[in-house]
Amino acid sequence: RTVYVNGEYLPEERATISIFDRGFLFADGVYEVTSVLDGKLIDFAGHAKRLERSLGELEISAPCSVDDLLEIHRRLVAENDITDGLVYLQITRGAADRDFAYPTDATPTLVLFTQSKPGLADSPAARTGIKVISIEDQRWGRRDIKTVQLLYPSMGKMMAKAAGADDAWMVEDGAVTEGTSNNAYIVKGNTIVTRQLGTEILHGITRAAVLRFAREAQMRVEERPFTIDEAKAADEAFITSASSFVMPVVEMDGAPIGTGKPGAVATRLREIYLEESRKAAV
Ligand code: PMP
Repeated sequence: RTVYVNGEYLPEERATISIFDRGFLFADGVYEVTSVLDGKLIDFAGHAKRLERSLGELEISAPCSVDDLLEIHRRLVAENDITDGLVYLQITRGAADRDFAYPTDATPTLVLFTQSKPGLADSPAARTGIKVISIEDQRWGRRDIKTVQLLYPSMGKMMAKAAGADDAWMVEDGAVTEGTSNNAYIVKGNTIVTRQLGTEILHGITRAAVLRFAREAQMRVEERPFTIDEAKAADEAFITSASSFVMPVVEMDGAPIGTGKPGAVATRLREIYLEESRKAAV
């Protein structure tokens, strides 16, 4: 596999970064994951825009232009023969003598690699739906910045696995924030409910697209906090993310949601999302 590190395309075995990199020492870095379908990037512009915002919030300077980033994405997709899969991008503040204060002279580190995922868009999980559990949200308070500080979501995923589930929805002050690596939705009657944007959740690129498509299809959308009890009593539930697109959720804390099968709204939104985003892919 060819990877990209600070201006170079290298075989993965030869790619290195400093042990003083602040991404390694402080989780002082941000990332993006862009999916690839039929060799093309899904919503690259959305990911590039959020990346700029994450960098801005942390006062990390952009290592190159958005056009350069697009070219690096495309070259890795081509060199690694990715038909369906992902491109992972990470930017850290760079290497500097260890100190909590941001260094003034560090050069940002830019790393990209690909993951091949044949059949990404027709995963069996989309036909059966996934099971989630509820856990307390113990992350920091700036979840709108897409940092590489992912230990709690990783622990949440392990808690889900231990409970025989696929993922966890996190709860703060009685309301669902989001999934460990996705945004969370319930459907009651003909209304889709998902938490409003704020510092409590990541502003999902897939979320923005799916809500736009839902509104265009005359579906009702309410952006507000909802509880686990509401989720358990919902007609259906689903998650969105760049790598799962729209994924039905059929069980919460061991109890079926609705019929216990993927719902009509989630299924339709998945179809619309895949169709429209393939059309707009670059
Ligand atoms: N929330 C969290 C916490 C995430 O990690 C992700 C995916 N990285 C999302 C939501 C979904 O965002 P996107 O649709 O941009 O992948």
